[in-house]
Amino acid sequence: MMVVMRLVHEPMEEREIWKNVLGDIELQISKPNFLTWLKNSRLVSVDKKEGVGLVGLPNNFAKEWVKNRYHKIILTSLRNMEGSIKNIDYVVVSQNRSATNEEIKNDKKEDGAALQSSLIDSKIDPKTNLNPKYTFKNFIVGSSNELATAATQAAIKDIGKKYNPLFVYGGVGLGKTHLLQAAGNEVASRYKNMARVLYISSEKFINDVVWAIRNRRMEDVKKKYRDIDVLIIDDIQFIGGKTATEQEFFYTFNTLHENNKQIIISSDRPPSAIPTLEERLRSRFEGGMIADVTYPDYEMRLAILKTKAQTQPLSIHENILEQIAAKVQRNIRELEGVLNKVIFYEQYKKQKIDTKKLDEIIGEATQATPKNITPGDIIRVVAEFFEIPASDMTNKSRKQEIVEPRQIAMFLMRDILKLSFPHIGEKLGKRDHTTAIHACEKISRETAQNPAINQKIMLIRERLYKL
Ligand code: ADP
Ligand code: MG
Repeated sequence: MMVVMRLVHEPMEEREIWKNVLGDIELQISKPNFLTWLKNSRLVSVDKKEGVGLVGLPNNFAKEWVKNRYHKIILTSLRNMEGSIKNIDYVVVSQNRSATNEEIKNDKKEDGAALQSSLIDSKIDPKTNLNPKYTFKNFIVGSSNELATAATQAAIKDIGKKYNPLFVYGGVGLGKTHLLQAAGNEVASRYKNMARVLYISSEKFINDVVWAIRNRRMEDVKKKYRDIDVLIIDDIQFIGGKTATEQEFFYTFNTLHENNKQIIISSDRPPSAIPTLEERLRSRFEGGMIADVTYPDYEMRLAILKTKAQTQPLSIHENILEQIAAKVQRNIRELEGVLNKVIFYEQYKKQKIDTKKLDEIIGEATQATPKNITPGDIIRVVAEFFEIPASDMTNKSRKQEIVEPRQIAMFLMRDILKLSFPHIGEKLGKRDHTTAIHACEKISRETAQNPAINQKIMLIRERLYKL
């Protein structure tokens, strides 16, 4: 028997997360599929403790379909937004999205407005897969992405001639998709019908190839991809280890490359660090231009927040933006998430945000930290990062090259694990709690001022979160 749950509204946070997830997925699957299967989906709840997201679909058929076809894409995307997620359950919810929309509009104006502005504007061009919201105009350039941006702009100015392929890599939420999409949009508007551009995620490419093999339609796929002037392929790391797909991609790549067509690729890491990637593809990627995007520094984070805040009818106090920029350091997606929530509270709930409320919002948005990191993990990962023996972290050495890693480890134990100062001192070689307090304060101060140290901490965090 089919179980139907009655639910009125999912909370604000789930709605924000789901909006981002759908935005992500919309780029990866075809528009008709998206509209048919996912438009009326919602995130019912997130159980952070268990790491389970509950996704609601309007009927049993949609539920089974989505579960069978899109589970992996949804899981990957949801996990990107909400690091605690390990699995997804699916459930039938009684109302469909439009009914909910109506209802909210009628009885809850505040939520309705937020929902309306939030829900996927399906303006994605089905021919190119480009979303017009990603442009160079709303892309802030700073030290963390200036090389990648310059290379991308050069690549589309001189299509296929200058940097080919162009390979952009960097961690989650640092702007790779935005940059690649902006490049695509720029090509589409600059060259109109003169240059055919196609943006595709590697998941979608894989799906296409698998489908074609199964249905003996390989010729169609070959034709589709080899007919393009600028091929943009996002998150290539997923292609590694999938032999038939890699092979097809390799041929596509060669055909385009030989014909001086432009190829732009993104990945979460450099080609050398995708272990399952075939050697011949790796060397092709390495034969072009490789540029990274790294963590934005404070100035850049503030600039991004200011730009985004300007598009809002209500102005957000400068001081609030500064606090967000100082406190939210992990990535730009999280930065946006916090800003969206602040806007939600101020604009729709008419609630003034003070530091306490802001910390609460940031706490929620950044809670995505896996719960099972131990002090030992922190010591080990920090030591690995600085290439020093882990035992040096906990011994009496006062050598300068040990002092900073040790302080960073203390800071992270406080920040991630919320350990007490005496406990932190104890963990790092039975040091006094005042040493721990000093270290945490020092590093905390420096993260707001010193981009170099900030970047180190970000990279260490990223490794820890991936454990
Ligand atoms: P990635 O693909 O690297 O995971 P995205 O491109 O999806 O990251 O970026 C996450 C969010 O941050 C998007 O909403 C994007 O518009 C925004 N963003 C990223 N970089 C910038 C930037 N330099 N300027 C403005 N917005 C940015
Ligand atoms: Mg991306």
